[in-house]
Amino acid sequence: MPSRHPSWLNHAPFDAAIVGAGVVGALTARALTRVGLRVILVEAGADPAGATKANSGIVHPGYDPERGTLKAALGLAGARAFEVTAAALGVPFRRTGSLMLAFDESEGQTLRHYLAQGRGRGLRGLRLLDREEVLTREPAVNPAVLAALYSPDTAVTSPFELAVAAVQGAIAGGAEAWREAEVTGVERGAAGFTIGTSRGQVRARRLVNAAGLGAKRVAGLAGHQGLDVRGRVGEYLLLDRDVEELVKMVLYPVPSPFSKGILVVPTVHGNVLLGPNAENLADADARANAVTRQGLAEVAEGARRLVPGLPIDRVIATFSGTRAVAGGDFVIEPSEQVPGLINVVGIASPGLTASPAIAGHVTRLLSGRTPPPEEPATGATALSESPRRTPGGGRIVCRCEGVTEAEVIAAIRGPFGATTLDGVKQRTRAGMGRCQGSFCGPRVVEIMARELGEPVSRVTKAGAGSELFSGRTKEAGP
Ligand SMILES: Cc1cc2nc3c(=O)[nH]c(=O)nc-3n(C[C@H](O)[C@H](O)[C@H](O)COP(=O)(O)OP(=O)(O)OC[C@H]3O[C@@H](n4cnc5c(N)ncnc54)[C@H](O)[C@@H]3O)c2cc1C
Repeated sequence: MPSRHPSWLNHAPFDAAIVGAGVVGALTARALTRVGLRVILVEAGADPAGATKANSGIVHPGYDPERGTLKAALGLAGARAFEVTAAALGVPFRRTGSLMLAFDESEGQTLRHYLAQGRGRGLRGLRLLDREEVLTREPAVNPAVLAALYSPDTAVTSPFELAVAAVQGAIAGGAEAWREAEVTGVERGAAGFTIGTSRGQVRARRLVNAAGLGAKRVAGLAGHQGLDVRGRVGEYLLLDRDVEELVKMVLYPVPSPFSKGILVVPTVHGNVLLGPNAENLADADARANAVTRQGLAEVAEGARRLVPGLPIDRVIATFSGTRAVAGGDFVIEPSEQVPGLINVVGIASPGLTASPAIAGHVTRLLSGRTPPPEEPATGATALSESPRRTPGGGRIVCRCEGVTEAEVIAAIRGPFGATTLDGVKQRTRAGMGRCQGSFCGPRVVEIMARELGEPVSRVTKAGAGSELFSGRTKEAGP
């Protein structure tokens, strides 16, 4: 388990501290090390714990964000940089292509607008398909469809794996990374910031606030007032892998002004994901009860509008994620109120897509330098950076996903290894399958206790406060 780090106050200040290890903070920390800066990444959770943990996993092509916005500029640049970034980090990435489906003439007009806008942005291969062509390519689509906008560039990826690989890449580049270290106080002095966390204090000349839903609070602690960050919840249904053949491409409806709408997504791991809906919250808190009956019904109905024959009885999991929204666009700027603070706030969709470009943009703002071009990982690096690809061998622990004990051990060991059951699940997929961990959960807990040198009663689902056992365990004896 992580220890306190009080001694860092006596060291020279870091060039920068980054708060939040979602895709944005993690890729930014890595990018800063790639221009030679000494950085520390500080994360409240045991692992990325915000929007990066629960989203649609789509690398959007970039034809729809409104002209002149950061979402348009960085979404496009991120989409272009994504494949090579994912390859450099050994993270799954698959170009599925996408169809945006129109069911009436006014939706058809929106498709024509996006087609023109996308072509104006240099997107190649975009074209309109008529009903027949749509149904030939995707026979499960609702036959009431009129037309679709086809994009060959749309891709799917694994956001959590990307964030973890980026943290590992930052560590390999010399960064320090603290987890379960919530920022609780910030003092600004002549030489920069003293940042108080639940695991000790640290000093840094600059502060990058990439705290997602926590960004308003972190900005406030540093003395920057006036940010408005609100949560927008999206719920999901995840279908079993035995329906993988149902759709090949990402299917979008024509979006509303608030969200991209409820999608049907073939995931990078072979499931089909349905969602998200969009519910605005009054403040920046993620909703405590993750899903609602009403929300999931809305998701099922929205997805069935695109694909009427969806086998909803093949649902194996439900979950939700919360977008951090700060008005209509990303807010990425040095604070005028607090010199040395850079806010990276309101990174709602397409923030995953944009994340490699956001990291480059923040690096330029902070250092005046551009990170060197990405290079695809050599076989050996890619394997060691991604525990999923560690040669398995040995005993199968998770029968649904075919995960071996060696893979679980590899996910726990090494830099930024898993310290929680969810951490193992997200890194290896043990517990992600049809039985959702009923079979492998106890085995994984046993391996974790052994590897972490802790009693099983100290193993948590997702960090302090989510212990899996209470009272006496068999291990504790009579
Ligand atoms: C439902 C949904 C669907 C989406 N679908 C897509 C999609 O398909 N494609 C796409 O491009 N984008 C999508 N997005 C957007 C994308 O997920 C986000 O833009 C992206 O994950 C934001 O990353 P982040 O690093 O800014 O924030 P987060 O991932 O939220 O990370 C912020 C981190 O800061 C930490 N933190 C907070 N407060 C503190 C503190 N005080 N001290 C220390 N750490 C702190 C949190 O624990 C968290 O780990 C979706 C988002 C949602 C919610």
